[in-house]
Amino acid sequence: MTNPASPAPIIRSLDALREMTRSWKAKGETIGVVPTMGALHDGHLSLARAARSATDRVIVTIFINPKQFNNPDDLKNYPRTEHEDARKLAPIGVDAIYVPDGAQMYPDGFSTKVSLDALTDVLCGAHRPGHFDGVATVVAKLLLQTSADQAFFGEKDYQQLLIVRRMALDLDICTTIVGCPTVREIDGLALSSRNLLLSDRARTTAPALSEVMEAITEGLAAGETMHNLVPLVLERLERAGFGEVDYLELRAASDLSLLDTPTEPARLFGAAWLAGVRLIDNVPV
Ligand code: AMP
Repeated sequence: MTNPASPAPIIRSLDALREMTRSWKAKGETIGVVPTMGALHDGHLSLARAARSATDRVIVTIFINPKQFNNPDDLKNYPRTEHEDARKLAPIGVDAIYVPDGAQMYPDGFSTKVSLDALTDVLCGAHRPGHFDGVATVVAKLLLQTSADQAFFGEKDYQQLLIVRRMALDLDICTTIVGCPTVREIDGLALSSRNLLLSDRARTTAPALSEVMEAITEGLAAGETMHNLVPLVLERLERAGFGEVDYLELRAASDLSLLDTPTEPARLFGAAWLAGVRLIDNVPV
């Protein structure tokens, strides 16, 4: 483990990464990886800490993956804070920060796509065409590049977590996929790099999403149905200042099949637009 006081080395080439991981593996050390797109917040840091306590070596990857953006403006505006990210990781004592560039990840002639038949056509998959193909492709590459024994993903992106787990299983990638709980602000807003894009006013409104999701969860616990609850909370979101609601759905935690009441372990999923920023959240029911 790197001395917690000193910043981790930033590795930009796959050759340098492989040299490092080979030397660790030769000593029998285990490797944990935390894939991110940077603009790190406490949610990302919680994954790095989980990795730190689970494996001998920890690699945090930072790559803003163009293949998972279906909107060019979203890619252009995505926050980039590499220097600050490295500073935030220093106290955790990660062993390396892997920051490949686009040419490193997708060299000329790159033509493979990892695409799943199931899990990808609902929720964010239905609203962001191609998004999860981009995610599955880059995560497959990152797991193979880092030779990770374990990889840490947030439940904040629960659909992504299920997709990555399925992909690793289907492709015989020997990495255990570990899900970690969502970290929230004190007012309930799930931490997200995109929160940096919210104006002060929108930031005040943003917790309404987690509030209505909590209200639905309580309603379901009291025996109500999604059919009855959703119209009420949609009105509340609109009054709070939200724009389009992409979805507000109850789905099975195992395979994302649609439910009206929690007849099996379930999660409530929400995605809505606020002042040009798309916020997503989900909670167990
Ligand atoms: P991103 O940089 O947004 O691609 O996220 C990288 C990883 O951090 C993913 O596994 C996310 O699910 C996870 N993550 C993002 N926000 C949170 C949060 N609020 N709590 C826990 N994990 C998170």
